[in-house]
Amino acid sequence: MNPNVLQTPIDYLKGVGPNRADLLRGELGIHTYQDLINLFPNRYIDRTRYYKIRELQENSSEVQVIGKIVHLKTVEQKRGKRLVATFVDDTGEMELVWFRGQKWIRESIRINTPYVIFGRCNRIGHLFSMPHPEMELLTEHESSLRTAMQPVYPSTEKLANKGITNRVINKLMQQLFTETGGRFMETLSSSLLEELNLISKPAAMFNIHFPKNQELLAKAQYRLKFEELFYIQLQLLIKNLVRKQKIKGYVFDMVGDHFHDFYDKHLPFSLTGAQKRVIKEIRHDLGTGAQMNRLLQGDVGSGKTIVALMAMLLALDNGFQACIMAPTEILASQHFNGIQELVKPLGINIKLLTGSTKTSARTEIHEQLRSGELHILVGTHALLEDKVKFHNLGLAVIDEQHRFGVAQRAKLWHKNTIPPHILVMTATPIPRTLAMSLYGDLDISVIDELPPGRKPVKTVHRYDSNRLKVFRFLRDEIAKGRQVYVVYPLIQESEKMDYKDLMDGYASIEREFPKPGYQISIVHGQMKPADKDYEMDRFVRGETQIMVATTVIEVGVNVPNASVMIIESAERFGLSQLHQLRGRVGRGAEQSYCILMTGHKLSDDSKTRLETMTRTNDGFEIAEVDLKLRGPGDIMGTQQSGVLHLKIADIVKDNQILKAARYYAQQLLKQDPSLAAEEHKIIRYTYAQLSKHKNIWNYIS
Ligand code: ADP
Ligand code: MG
Repeated sequence: MNPNVLQTPIDYLKGVGPNRADLLRGELGIHTYQDLINLFPNRYIDRTRYYKIRELQENSSEVQVIGKIVHLKTVEQKRGKRLVATFVDDTGEMELVWFRGQKWIRESIRINTPYVIFGRCNRIGHLFSMPHPEMELLTEHESSLRTAMQPVYPSTEKLANKGITNRVINKLMQQLFTETGGRFMETLSSSLLEELNLISKPAAMFNIHFPKNQELLAKAQYRLKFEELFYIQLQLLIKNLVRKQKIKGYVFDMVGDHFHDFYDKHLPFSLTGAQKRVIKEIRHDLGTGAQMNRLLQGDVGSGKTIVALMAMLLALDNGFQACIMAPTEILASQHFNGIQELVKPLGINIKLLTGSTKTSARTEIHEQLRSGELHILVGTHALLEDKVKFHNLGLAVIDEQHRFGVAQRAKLWHKNTIPPHILVMTATPIPRTLAMSLYGDLDISVIDELPPGRKPVKTVHRYDSNRLKVFRFLRDEIAKGRQVYVVYPLIQESEKMDYKDLMDGYASIEREFPKPGYQISIVHGQMKPADKDYEMDRFVRGETQIMVATTVIEVGVNVPNASVMIIESAERFGLSQLHQLRGRVGRGAEQSYCILMTGHKLSDDSKTRLETMTRTNDGFEIAEVDLKLRGPGDIMGTQQSGVLHLKIADIVKDNQILKAARYYAQQLLKQDPSLAAEEHKIIRYTYAQLSKHKNIWNYIS
């Protein structure tokens, strides 16, 4: 078939008039023949069985019945009109009911003519009733391309109201196959088809729309899912290759004094295997002459900071400046203090720049940055201001990635003609499958090992009614010299109420833990930064034993002596947030605890979250559960909800296929990076087509 046939506007398909064409475009984004054949069914229904009216049962699934309409009437109701048909077969009588599209139904229905109706039944009194049945004349039903597995296509209320039922879509699909002969071009190379035992494109297309049986349907689904994921992976990998070829990066080929000095003499502990591996990966990137764009994933406390520092030292050794950017002032100061302490013996000029840096200090920083006197700049997004100009920024480290988002990442880039190397660190593990789909064009390093000697945090779930026991436990821990966090939810929409919860909680803790025996800090979002810092500081220095806070302490705060994390209204937190909060404890040598406080009424999802938290400390496992509970769109935010627009694959359910697709795309590019070989012609052609017709593949940004 001439591939251009598939670009024919949908208006030209027999059975699609201008009205239907508008609806298909507006509701389903179907502009061309190609769009229509790529409208894949959501599910399939077994339509081999015909029911008699006598056999109908309450709460059964969808059924099909053969019979006739003997009577049609409009019933007036307070809430509006409905159209009711009396439908009979040789065993009894039932009702068909329409609330919408009544005019169209009334005009098109034939009385006393055999129909096959299909839908779900309700029982009202002794009578069965089927709202908005799918209907087809028996004669047409018998002559149509009938399949045992009836596809159910995505639809919208508007389409249903305008009479574009599933049946109509099905017929249009038949028409399309008739007009084109169903001879769709193959889109995968014969070696892939052979190696993976995939069915051909035409066979897959036919069986996805008109499956003959379960087995063929499964084969068709596998083939099409693989194809979809394969081309996405190919695109991501090619983007990455192109970036590496096109985007030059500074070459850090010297491993010099700073790095060696620090590594040999001043490292406060020995690195874990995972840290060493990741440093190696980064060193390799920095030596290739291409810009590094690496995502470093590592659970809270896995020791990402030291890795970032060693990378920055490499930059310095090669005569470049480096910066590290954190999402909050608290975190930025912690990084600053920590790093400054570590590099003290090296004689490095390092400064902190945040929103609250005084003007005089700010001016000095700006000058030293421009002259190159300043080696490492630590800060918040104040680093992104236009006034901040580096002499030669070689490496930018971004901590806690998804609080910034991609736009800001891009902004850092444009500060130089040759972009700095970029290392993005995130403590919220992104499930591998998701990372592969979203960040396939980034390189990913994982620290999957905690520093030795850490005792896993013990996590328990306690009901509010057990609060007194929990307080007793706190007293014991504080008596041993430990410190405690008590965290309250603070969620935007209900901020006032949450604030009240926090203040009530604070009051009750003050009653239970009175001065002077106990000192309490409080930190929340409505405080001035200076007050926050003051309260934080008192806790860090051990002057207060209890820190009452909202989730502002979620990210990064490091107080090794704190051994208990109490999370109030834990059912209101998401899994990744709970895990982040728990990561605030268990940083010292002592056994630490996380206590999840809730009321008795819990949703199923809340129960799953609590159960997951008490079962495991593994951030990746938690991320997988989170992905299953919330779906990819919610996890990554609307910004990246593109992953939801897959035509047939599901990155959660089909992650095995995704892995295969990525593997084969990698192999292909290793063998033939420009897809020049004759045997890859099909792939090269398909890839070019897909890139051209963006409407189909618009989920690739
Ligand atoms: P995160 O990955 O959460 O940013 P940090 O870099 O803050 O973790 O490290 C957490 C703590 O673990 C810090 O106190 C750090 O000094 C310590 N640490 C990091 N790596 C090691 C190691 N290899 N051995 C012992 N302690 C380490
Ligand atoms: Mg950190």
